[in-house]
Amino acid sequence: MTAILPGSTIGVLGSGQLGRMLALAARRMGYRVHSFSPERDTPAGQVSDWEIVAEYGDLDAVRRFAAGVSVVTFEFENVPAATAQTAASVGPLRPGPRVLEVTQHRIREKTFLSQNGFPVAPFLAVHSLDQLRQAVIKLGAPGILKTASFGYDGKGQQYIDSLKAADLAMQPDDRAELIYESFVDFYREVSVVAARGVDKAFATWGVIDNSHRDHILDLSVCPSSLDRNIAKEAVEIARAILQALDVVGVLCVEFFVTQAGKLLVNELAPRPHNSGHLTIEGHMTSQFEQQLRAICGLPLGDTTQLRPAAMANLLGDVWCNGEPNWPAACAFPGVKLHLYGKGSARPGRKMGHLTALGDTSSEAAEKALAARKSLLTTSDQ
Ligand code: AMP
Repeated sequence: MTAILPGSTIGVLGSGQLGRMLALAARRMGYRVHSFSPERDTPAGQVSDWEIVAEYGDLDAVRRFAAGVSVVTFEFENVPAATAQTAASVGPLRPGPRVLEVTQHRIREKTFLSQNGFPVAPFLAVHSLDQLRQAVIKLGAPGILKTASFGYDGKGQQYIDSLKAADLAMQPDDRAELIYESFVDFYREVSVVAARGVDKAFATWGVIDNSHRDHILDLSVCPSSLDRNIAKEAVEIARAILQALDVVGVLCVEFFVTQAGKLLVNELAPRPHNSGHLTIEGHMTSQFEQQLRAICGLPLGDTTQLRPAAMANLLGDVWCNGEPNWPAACAFPGVKLHLYGKGSARPGRKMGHLTALGDTSSEAAEKALAARKSLLTTSDQ
């Protein structure tokens, strides 16, 4: 397979911050970027050569977009199947349509994982109140009821601690596809961001420790302090998942680590992931450059870690007192500011992140958190 070389154009379906950081990495390496989404002046569109504004369901527009680029990728997994298939009928779509089909639907994803022997929490598909009651009886409570599609950052999730709660959770005529899974009493959440090339080469940045606030990722730290053997196992699971799905590109595996030290796969994200943002400064090759290399058929880049790194998300909440005190955060040595160019700062909306480098993971984490806190102080400038 001949590689898609610098000077070529890559196409990105979706236009959020992940597309933006991919486009920035691509442009640095001399590629041109076309982004495609229904919105205008988007995080990705602002830094693309061409921001195409069209509905995902406008398949003529998708065809024209795919014909104008050497390879299409996506920055969110909810790309409609018809859009993905249309793009794939014109030229390479990487990762391919099957990866999207599996990962955009929790029941398909969990079924794929369990059928291939990957560890997941017990789950059952639920399509009616009666099935939910049966699931609660069979798997026990507490559990979490999740929508099969379009759920992220805890959206579309309900905690069920009894049959009574199950009765209240669902309207009798609710036809939504849902999944009920056992509540995992985890002691930590970690992720493995990994990449696989056209030549089937595999690369990873190892295990990243994640903490969430209100179900949204808050802080990521690498290297992880997880036990070495468990970390090794997590990487091997990720390697096997990328292989089983025949991924070309970047995919993140999110894990729960139980109190007993057992790994359970929570979710797959077939794209660069929020927890991997720290690879931009922390590692020789970032997850975004790696995505570019993988989809273009270039050799995967060296993922050596340069310094321990921590990433703190900046949600719209940081704007609660007005404009954040940017000079205060920028005054921290070893801290880098990333803003995604989003117009309105709503609570819970991911607006940017800070990455801090340190001599150790905990020093980096402390610095990232202190820099974020400083954003709320009053500016004396
Ligand atoms: P998800 O959208 O599935 O990634 O879930 C968002 C967050 O909800 C996770 O990062 C966990 O903190 C929590 N969560 C999801 N599923 C479970 C579960 N089965 N048991 C315990 N916590 C969960």
